[in-house]
Amino acid sequence: MTEILALSGITKRFGGLTAVNELSFSLAAGEVVGLLGPNGSGKTTVMNMISGFFAPTQGVIALKGEPIQGLAPHRIAPKGVARTFQLVRALPSLTVSENVQTALAFGKQRLWGEEARERALHHLEEVGLAERAGEKASDLTYIDQKRMELARALAAEPDLLLLDEWLAGLNPTELRTGIDLIQSLEQRGMTILLVEHVMDAIRALCGRCVVMNAGRKIADGPTDEVLRDPEVVRAYLGD
Ligand code: ADP
Repeated sequence: MTEILALSGITKRFGGLTAVNELSFSLAAGEVVGLLGPNGSGKTTVMNMISGFFAPTQGVIALKGEPIQGLAPHRIAPKGVARTFQLVRALPSLTVSENVQTALAFGKQRLWGEEARERALHHLEEVGLAERAGEKASDLTYIDQKRMELARALAAEPDLLLLDEWLAGLNPTELRTGIDLIQSLEQRGMTILLVEHVMDAIRALCGRCVVMNAGRKIADGPTDEVLRDPEVVRAYLGD
C-alpha cells in the first residue's frame, strides 16, 4: 500500500498555546479520511501545516516519503497537494474556464493557451460544470462556485486533496450532489483528507476518521467505530 501522507509527532505552538500536540497519522493512496473534532481542536491548523501556510513547531510531514514540513505553499502545491478553502476563493470577474486556467498556469504543468483551455474544460467536465465554462464566475450559484473551486484544485492533478469544509452551507439537495461528486473522485482513486461537520457526509464519504480534541489525536479508525467511541462522544458534547 503506497503511503501518500504521513504526519509524525507534529506539534504547533502559537506563543503559549499548543494548537496541535504530538499528532501522528498517515493516509494510504486512495483513502478518504475525515479529520474531525470540536471547534478549536486544531483541524484547520493541521490543514494549514500540510499545505504549507504554517510551519510545524516540531515533527515531520512526509508526502510520498519526502519531508515537506516548513516549505512554503507554492513549493508544496507542485509536489502534489491541492486544497479547497472554507471561503471560496474565485476570481469573480473572470470566466469559469479562466478561473481553472489560472490554476493550470500556476500548477505543476504550467499550461497556457489552447492547451490550458482544453485541460480546463476536462476538469470542468469532471465536476459537472462544463456547460458553464464561458460564464462569469460571479454569476455562478453557490454549489457551482464550489464545483469550480474543486475543478481548480483538480487542475493541479494532486496526489492529495485537502477539502476544508467544502460541503458547508449547501442545502440538502446540493449536499447530495456534493457528496456524489466527492464519491466520484474517490472512485477514481483520489486520496482525500477532509475537515467536515456534516455527519451524514462523513458517514457517506469517509472509511476512516481521525478525531482531535485540544490538539491531540483521541481516535483513529473506521468511521462507525470512531463515532461510537465514548471519548469522541464526550469531546463533542464538550464536557
Ligand atoms: P479547528 O479548525 O479545529 O476549529 P484551529 O486549528 O482553527 O481549530 O485552532 C486550534 C487552536 O489554535 C485554537 O485555540 C485557535 O485559537 C488557535 N489558532 C489557530 N490559528 C492561530 C493563529 N494563527 N494564531 C494564534 N492562534 C491560532
